[in-house]
Amino acid sequence: MIELELTFLGTGGCRICMLKQRRQTGGFILRDKSFMMSVDPGPGALVYGIKKGLDLSKLNAIFVSHPHLDHEGDAEAMIEAMTGGCMVKKGLLISNKDYLSREPKFGSISDYHRKAVERELIVNDGDSHVFEENLKIEFIELQHKNVETTGFKLSRGGKTFSYIPDTSMFEGIKEKYSGSDYIVISCPRTHRIEWKGHLGLKDVAELVGTIEPEKVYLNHLGVTFLDNIEEEKDWLKEKGIFDRVIIPDDNQTFHINI
Ligand SMILES: [Zn+2]
Ligand SMILES: [Zn+2]
Repeated sequence: MIELELTFLGTGGCRICMLKQRRQTGGFILRDKSFMMSVDPGPGALVYGIKKGLDLSKLNAIFVSHPHLDHEGDAEAMIEAMTGGCMVKKGLLISNKDYLSREPKFGSISDYHRKAVERELIVNDGDSHVFEENLKIEFIELQHKNVETTGFKLSRGGKTFSYIPDTSMFEGIKEKYSGSDYIVISCPRTHRIEWKGHLGLKDVAELVGTIEPEKVYLNHLGVTFLDNIEEEKDWLKEKGIFDRVIIPDDNQTFHINI
């Protein structure tokens, strides 16, 4: 079994948290010895990746879940890091049609940067791709406001690491993510607040109860969550899932057994 390293270049998300930088918003990096993917590189991904000491020229994939700035503000910067300033055609740019169609609704990525990558993967629900070392990624369509939003399950050796970016709870989400051993979940809201288009801590508890992953890592924390973080930790303790639901710090690294 090969270990995957998960590093949060940001645990914050949503407009206000991003604009005030209450938490960093650079998304996260997954890597092992031959694989390195930047996931949802919001503003700060390049700077905090460098500060963390990561060699971003080793990137071989960039994944953008949807065309909102807190998920893609540094996508071009990460493409330049991956391709030596667009000098070497290299790597995959993975997203859905709302971000990568030639007539994007919200996407802001330049043709110059798109041409720098070796290949674009415009993915639909159920599509999959295999990286080196039998690392298989399967894409999952979610429901987030009026833009197509994509999550994934990454599997190897019978273990699965999953990502649930911005989404509402909807019928079928638990089935789509069944079998996940580790999940990064976008959770901007507290257990008290319901907000269409986003998950709160109550939804996370429900997902944990049904999917039964070994560990969940919260990211995309919003200002209300951060203002009430101690109360939220107490609530997780009350629910008996405090050990399973991790609230990472910015720049923290975890080792995932897949
Ligand atoms: Zn977001
Ligand atoms: Zn969003």
